[in-house]
Amino acid sequence: RAKADAYLDTVHFSPQLDADNKDRLALVAALTHALERQEFTLNYQPQTDIRTGETAGFEALLRWRNPTLGHVSPERFIPLAEQSGLIRHIGRWVLREACGEAASWSRPLGIAINVAPQQLVQPDFAEEVSDILIETRLAPERLELEITEVSLIEDQEKATRTMSMLKAMGVHIAMDDFGTGYASLATLQAFPFDKIKIDRSFIAGVHANTQKAAIVRATILLGRSLEIPVLAEGVEAEEELAFLRRENCHCVQGYYYAKPMPADRIEGYLASVTDGRKRAAG
Ligand code: C2E
Ligand code: MG
Ligand code: MG
Ligand code: MG
Repeated sequence: RAKADAYLDTVHFSPQLDADNKDRLALVAALTHALERQEFTLNYQPQTDIRTGETAGFEALLRWRNPTLGHVSPERFIPLAEQSGLIRHIGRWVLREACGEAASWSRPLGIAINVAPQQLVQPDFAEEVSDILIETRLAPERLELEITEVSLIEDQEKATRTMSMLKAMGVHIAMDDFGTGYASLATLQAFPFDKIKIDRSFIAGVHANTQKAAIVRATILLGRSLEIPVLAEGVEAEEELAFLRRENCHCVQGYYYAKPMPADRIEGYLASVTDGRKRAAG
């Protein structure tokens, strides 16, 4: 493993990286006990239909708070959970927790859940999802699993087999972070995805950047020709939303509508969206 070797070399020669390595070890050690110590929670961020303004569903996003480390960002601990293999257990917890939460909502909205590459190549992953759907009594059609293309690069055959089994159950599959990988177009060809999520790096300032605008416009058109709905991630500004509306993007998600929120704020959020729309119409 060239990558691991290169890493060890640098650790050996650089005191700074040596400290980073100690941090990593401390994080992994804390992460090992995080599940049993109930340090994880989920936040939920709305996904909005751009035409109707209606909430179509929520994405579940993992949060970790450790008594000594405080809040640790998923950008930091998810890669460690993946490298250490802990992601399988954590991922199973996320699935069960988010499906159970969605099953309790007053409306049958969608629930989108991030799935790590290691989960997808687990031989029994489709069965695990099926068991959780039965246990939580969530209709499979309400579940959308978000996959990044890394999953397909590592073992495309195994990953697409599992994804086909999930699709046969009625579960939807979304391609997350579209545009950031090496082979996004090839990945789209490899599997009939139910949604394309454009990475938020392309959305930030899209209205004022010719390159970003061209890429986002082309992706929306691509989705249209393939008949795959396109969601724009990380919409923060009114101008970004206006651009996406003009370009007929299907769905949006971002701080403009809401930051990821704890489960107990969901019903209140839904009520306020409905009220806002009634006010706007009346
Ligand atoms: P992602 O799946 O692409 O999730 C979107 C990220 O963008 C989230 O970051 C969300 O909080 C953030 N975001 C949403 N709207 C905005 C916006 O308008 N502006 C900005 N600046 N950011 C916005 P978060 O929650 O920190 O998660 C980061 C990544 O960690 C996720 O990216 C996903 O890849 C991973 N992740 C989170 N939860 C899970 C999980 O349960 N399982 C796995 N395997 N990965 C997860
Ligand atoms: Mg995601
Ligand atoms: Mg994403
Ligand atoms: Mg991401």
